Amino acid sequence: MTEQLPIIIAGAGIGGLSAALALAHKNIPVLLLERNRVPTEVGAGVQISPNATASLRDWGVWPYLSEHAVTPPQINIFSGFSGRPLSSLDTRDFESRYGSPYFVVHRADLHQALYHRASQLDLIEILEDREVREIAQTDDYIEVRSKRDNGTQRFYRGSALIAADGVWSRVRTEHVGSSPATYSGKTAWRITMPMQMVPKHFDSQNVGLWLSPKAHLVHYPVVGGHMLNIVAIVDENWTEEGWSAPGDAAWLNKRFSRWPLEIRELLAEREGWLKWALCGHKPDQHWVKGKVALLGDAAHGMLPFMAQGAGMAIEDAAILARAIDEISASMHIRLMAYERARKARVSQVVNRAAKNGDIYHFSGPLATARNMTMRLMPRTQLLKKFDWIYSWRPDQVQFDI
Ligand SMILES: Cc1cc2nc3c(=O)[nH]c(=O)nc-3n(C[C@H](O)[C@H](O)[C@H](O)COP(=O)(O)OP(=O)(O)OC[C@H]3O[C@@H](n4cnc5c(N)ncnc54)[C@H](O)[C@@H]3O)c2cc1C
Repeated sequence: MTEQLPIIIAGAGIGGLSAALALAHKNIPVLLLERNRVPTEVGAGVQISPNATASLRDWGVWPYLSEHAVTPPQINIFSGFSGRPLSSLDTRDFESRYGSPYFVVHRADLHQALYHRASQLDLIEILEDREVREIAQTDDYIEVRSKRDNGTQRFYRGSALIAADGVWSRVRTEHVGSSPATYSGKTAWRITMPMQMVPKHFDSQNVGLWLSPKAHLVHYPVVGGHMLNIVAIVDENWTEEGWSAPGDAAWLNKRFSRWPLEIRELLAEREGWLKWALCGHKPDQHWVKGKVALLGDAAHGMLPFMAQGAGMAIEDAAILARAIDEISASMHIRLMAYERARKARVSQVVNRAAKNGDIYHFSGPLATARNMTMRLMPRTQLLKKFDWIYSWRPDQVQFDI
């Protein structure tokens, strides 16, 4: 009986939409409930690496991204203290090395692409203005109560609930019983600006990563190369839930006042900064309870210093769909197999991202040692360090039941 019911997904972010596409490609019906109007994404860029772009291709998302996604030729790393180059990776090698490209894209464009592709598939029903509030489980099905803005309630039955409700997931804390996200003491400030506004001599065509004591900065082109996305990460004890609190430009300019001239010029007198407090979860907590499973940031919110949060949500989606499709057992066992298949890898990425956060913000002798190591390391050796992430494919994963 439960097999005819859809899989219900809470949250139509990058994770929820990816899960819907992955399931529909296995012929599994999906009901996607989103509390806001869809698409919901706030403006910022996102880097998507080959481990995730391969699934986007398999799900038919690429045609919707072709005008928007950009593969910048290089990722260049600089000292944000002296301005000196530290290292560089040639991203054009990625496609031949990993069988799928690396690209950067505006989050809203990626979100729209996933949404348009999902809207084409009959097996996916998307309902907006439906906030998932309560969950009840029986042996045969799961029942979800949702609330609309006008106060009306609706009940939906499914064979499972996948909670892709983001880093502040209520399903995680209230239903699965895992602890809430904790703040990292770092905030992300972001702005996107038209290329015409970028100072003339600034290298806006490549990805730039600038490392400095207690702060780092990343920039890359988005929107088909027409806009520049800038994210500045600073050590700052500010905590507020949400993605779009306004940031004070004067404060940020003061914070970067000793940075190299080209960065000061880039940041000067920009208005429209948005900031958010970065937070994450301990990766070793439960993701599954009965027929409920967490996915994406709800399962493993992480610091963005590996640029893999969305990538991991896309990987989760591919493995979840395989577990539900391929394993002949109860829904709980299938979801547990998904959790087991994902945990070690995701934990490795979460821990590596946290470590990068420390390394990027080193000062004094540690920063000098980091810079020297980067300058001396051959590029091929630097690229090899990413093989375990970028060469991953969903069909390599074996389930342990
Ligand atoms: C500064 C920064 C830079 C980043 N850069 C990168 C990068 O370069 N590469 C990368 O891979 N990742 C990056 N990430 C991480 C990436 O953005 C996230 O990991 C990813 O967006 C998570 O997607 P999600 O769908 O799990 O969650 P979200 O995007 O948070 O989506 C959750 C959705 O659930 C909805 N929702 C919430 N509660 C309910 C409810 N009760 N009922 C119904 N709907 C609900 C929300 O409205 C929302 O639409 C970055 C993150 C930050 C902060």
